[in-house]
Amino acid sequence: MQNKTPLYFDYAATTPVDNQVADRMMHYLTMAGDFGNPASVNHHFGRQAKAAVEAARRQVANSIGAKPAQIIWTSGATESCNLGLKGAARNLRQNGSHIIAAQTEHKAVLDVCHALEQEDFSVTYVKPTPSGLIDPSEFEEALRPDTILASIMHVNNETGVIQDIANIGQITKHRNIVLHVDAAQSVGKLPVAVEQLGADLLSICAHKAYGPKGIGALYVRDPSVLGKQALIHGGGHEWGLRAGTLPTHQIVGMGQAFKIAEEELTADELRISQLKQRLWTGLQTVPGTWLSGSFDKCVGGILNVGFEDVNCEDLMLELSDIALSSGAACSSFAQEPSHVLKAMGLSDDQIGSTVRFSFGRFTSTEEIDYVIEAVADAVKKLRK
Ligand SMILES: *Cc1c(COP(=O)(O)O)cnc(C)c1O
Repeated sequence: MQNKTPLYFDYAATTPVDNQVADRMMHYLTMAGDFGNPASVNHHFGRQAKAAVEAARRQVANSIGAKPAQIIWTSGATESCNLGLKGAARNLRQNGSHIIAAQTEHKAVLDVCHALEQEDFSVTYVKPTPSGLIDPSEFEEALRPDTILASIMHVNNETGVIQDIANIGQITKHRNIVLHVDAAQSVGKLPVAVEQLGADLLSICAHKAYGPKGIGALYVRDPSVLGKQALIHGGGHEWGLRAGTLPTHQIVGMGQAFKIAEEELTADELRISQLKQRLWTGLQTVPGTWLSGSFDKCVGGILNVGFEDVNCEDLMLELSDIALSSGAACSSFAQEPSHVLKAMGLSDDQIGSTVRFSFGRFTSTEEIDYVIEAVADAVKKLRK
């Protein structure tokens, strides 16, 4: 099998937009559709757009067990993490200045923590177990009397590992600490229920769940958590917390994507887990192969695999007809070894032998079988 267009195995970086989502988005762009400014509520065009935005807000809220008034539109999960963490930290400063985050957080959280350190907040970065899990007792040990805020991700984007957020949420609730959850990778892969998780703030985006890039949301349980701490000022949109004309087509796309994610969750997750089982069974026939993370406490569409004595850059060159990410993936601007795998105790050599396979709704069994064979051949060749 020779593919002109490479096979797509990088769903954790972004997913294609579902055709049904793209079709709906088209209706909010042109003269023939509802193109108005949702803030122009004095006329028909604006009101039509506003109605679409509010319907999408209900869809997104429903899908995570929230109320529509608890959803703030942003440009994506990165902005949501910035708004949530900076907003809560600055707003709660009089109560303390200590923050807790996991070492395995996405840069969208870690870089915000580093910025807050420049504002004289202090941050404890909790180390995960070798399988990438944050042990609630380790988390508890990091608590200080002046801890005001914690940020723990739901699903890790490099390993697919699922954190026990509900357990951590009970600790934070008991201690009156604001809990932010980066759930960018969770939607459509497992149920996200804000109350059950105990999240005070939760960051999500559309483009990891078959929606468009450039749109996300922040769930805010109680407005007193952020106070009036906006990052973007100008116009008072979104309760004064995030100004800027709302992108109706993007918002409608996110609403539709989340609606489909909810409807298809069980079927998608079952099928994709079977693909993961098939891929891992196949890859294990290659000697010197290991899995980073936990096979069971992990979502279906992500498999982080190391190959002894193989350089991942060479492997990816050999596999030029398969779109993959390497162990350096999520820091690929810097080409540094993955901080996630490092925190889990892997050596730089091991990280340099690691690739991430991520797949989803549009991946077929045939594609999985092709990948297994291609990887086995490439690894054999590179080890010669
Ligand atoms: C993709 C991702 C982000 C960033 O989301 P954007 O919408 O691209 O800004 C944050 N956290 C995790 C875990 C992600 O996978």
